[in-house]
Amino acid sequence: MNQAESDNAAYHWGMVIDLDRCTGCGACVVACQAENNVPTVGETLCSQGREMQWIRIERYWEGQYPEVRARFIPLLCQHCDNAPCEPVCPVYASYHTSEGLNGQVYNRCVGTRYCANNCPFSARVFNFFEPEWPEPLNNQLSPDLTVRSKGVMEKCTFCIQRIRRGKEDAKLEGRPVRDEDIVPACAQTCAPGAIVFGNMADPESRAFRLARSKRRFRLLEDLGTEPSVIYLKGGGREDD
Ligand code: SF4
Repeated sequence: MNQAESDNAAYHWGMVIDLDRCTGCGACVVACQAENNVPTVGETLCSQGREMQWIRIERYWEGQYPEVRARFIPLLCQHCDNAPCEPVCPVYASYHTSEGLNGQVYNRCVGTRYCANNCPFSARVFNFFEPEWPEPLNNQLSPDLTVRSKGVMEKCTFCIQRIRRGKEDAKLEGRPVRDEDIVPACAQTCAPGAIVFGNMADPESRAFRLARSKRRFRLLEDLGTEPSVIYLKGGGREDD
């Protein structure tokens, strides 16, 4: 194992989302959109199923009228360890990194959309148009990542630009990455703290500890895709 491989083995990025804390406010959706240069497409295109979002809030109703309660599930790319989107890409644009991320190489993507069809979570979105940010909205674009163009598939990256920056800062300071070094935009914005991101290979990380809660579950577990996003069911204490 060379130095780079041994460094990478130290990381397996994952996320824990506590559904008991999520209020369905949608702040994480907006934060993701701003951080990752995701365009807003407007009402007409949304009604045609062309919305661009890397994270969406699924709403469910629980109980019978009048005792009905709304439940929310923030849904994003699950960064599956056995990702069904990866083997179907004819040009290897969708691939798995050594740190457990499901990567997407934009300039390889030829837009066949096989990956989106094979994703059981419908977490991938396709650029049907050339996104535009008229002046002065172009000033809000992040220089840390590209603006994807027409014909390209995109999806949540766990804010890979923040992961890289956190790792580089830690390296410059000669220390391992700490929990607070890397916080994706959605987790940073979530007021009730429902989203916790971290290194699942580090037993000291908060994400590692939460992922072992008795309330844990993963979406569509029976499919065997091994998601890296763990949800915590409502109705319990955080450390249950
Ligand atoms: S910001 Fe937090 S509380 Fe609001 S929808 Fe997203 S996960 Fe839920």
